[in-house]
Amino acid sequence: MSRTVAIIGGGYGGAAVAKALEAEADVVLIDPRDAFVNAAGSLRAVTRPEWAANVFFPFDTLLTRGTVIRDRAVSVDPGGVTLGSGRRVEADYVVLATGSSYAYPAKPVADSVSDALDDFRRTHEELAGADRVLVLGAGPVGLELAGEIKEVWPHKHVTIVDPADRLLPGYEPGMVEDLRRQLDELGVHVRLGVGVTPPDEPGRSGTFTVTTTGGDEITADIWFRAHGVRVNSDYLADGRLTARTPAGLVPVTETLNVRGHDHVYAVGDLTDLAEDKRAGYALQHAEVVAANITAQLRGEPPVATYRPSPHPMILIPLGRRGGVGQLPTPDGPSVVPAATVTAYKGADLFTGRFTEQFGPTAAQFDPTAV
Ligand SMILES: Cc1cc2nc3c(=O)[nH]c(=O)nc-3n(C[C@H](O)[C@H](O)[C@H](O)COP(=O)(O)OP(=O)(O)OC[C@H]3O[C@@H](n4cnc5c(N)ncnc54)[C@H](O)[C@@H]3O)c2cc1C
Repeated sequence: MSRTVAIIGGGYGGAAVAKALEAEADVVLIDPRDAFVNAAGSLRAVTRPEWAANVFFPFDTLLTRGTVIRDRAVSVDPGGVTLGSGRRVEADYVVLATGSSYAYPAKPVADSVSDALDDFRRTHEELAGADRVLVLGAGPVGLELAGEIKEVWPHKHVTIVDPADRLLPGYEPGMVEDLRRQLDELGVHVRLGVGVTPPDEPGRSGTFTVTTTGGDEITADIWFRAHGVRVNSDYLADGRLTARTPAGLVPVTETLNVRGHDHVYAVGDLTDLAEDKRAGYALQHAEVVAANITAQLRGEPPVATYRPSPHPMILIPLGRRGGVGQLPTPDGPSVVPAATVTAYKGADLFTGRFTEQFGPTAAQFDPTAV
């Protein structure tokens, strides 16, 4: 019996489905990259390039039985996937896991580990020579970037600007208060309720002055964009598989099937589930999808289901020792201290956790990179 499972995208969700199913099925993982990227580590990869190779988990060793095709899906239908090269992958099951793109450096742009490491090193050099840093966006990414910069260069001036007039709306007031206190201690300036139009290129050093929408001036030597997530679902635009929501998301059922298809599933950031887009959720989706495909391969009904948690969770490290967070409990969200954020995330940005699940990082193949 044919048992091919084509997984499109080897991010958190796709890599976890591939790993879970490679003993059960003929797994074909399709991704233009040569490694799984633990995006949670990208910002530290810029400030500590000697650590950066820990962010990458090469597909060659991540999968021991499955096949990896380095290509991009350009069209999908219930019977398989058409790739950018023109090649066709026929499949009995298809899993959409193409996630989202984020402005560099939060997610690398280059598809190969070596090119991505070069980019991180280049940005590090630009940043090292800049005294004043402007970050656009006071969401989790902008805040984490500020924390990583302050840990390596405590004396740099870091300003975060955001047109929203509240910091992290929707999260527990106690967490936001703690965040403000820690940012003050670090000397990170947060300017809410104003926007700026920065010079052309982010991540390049060169002094500039911008006037905010509030009418005052900010002078900085480098700037970074920390907003603007984009769902990767263009390859569904031909409608051969499904219609997308106006935001480009894929409608899924409780069993995480793409609506209307018994053998096609979706996980991660591109699903239309009513929850924040998080790696932690993508990993939970992966468990549900792996269980359902395993059941179907054994001739059983797919009964695993997923329901978004009503309580948002978040962990925002500010360097390796600081940070804020809230985690779900049966009684609702619980604000956690910096020590918990460090233990769960800040200390190694999940490197250890993913080494257990996915095997060695690229740092273990290239000792000169650590
Ligand atoms: C700086 C930062 C820190 C974060 N920290 C956390 C955190 O602490 N906790 C948390 O839960 N979440 C965190 N997130 C969010 C998390 O990174 C995303 O939710 C997660 O990446 C989504 O995973 P995914 O599996 O949906 O896809 P992604 O991780 O986005 O991976 C998608 C994959 O699909 C591939 N792809 C794209 N298009 C195609 C195509 N056409 N064909 C084939 N392959 C394709 C890409 O190359 C990529 O490998 C963080 C994000 C950032 C940027």
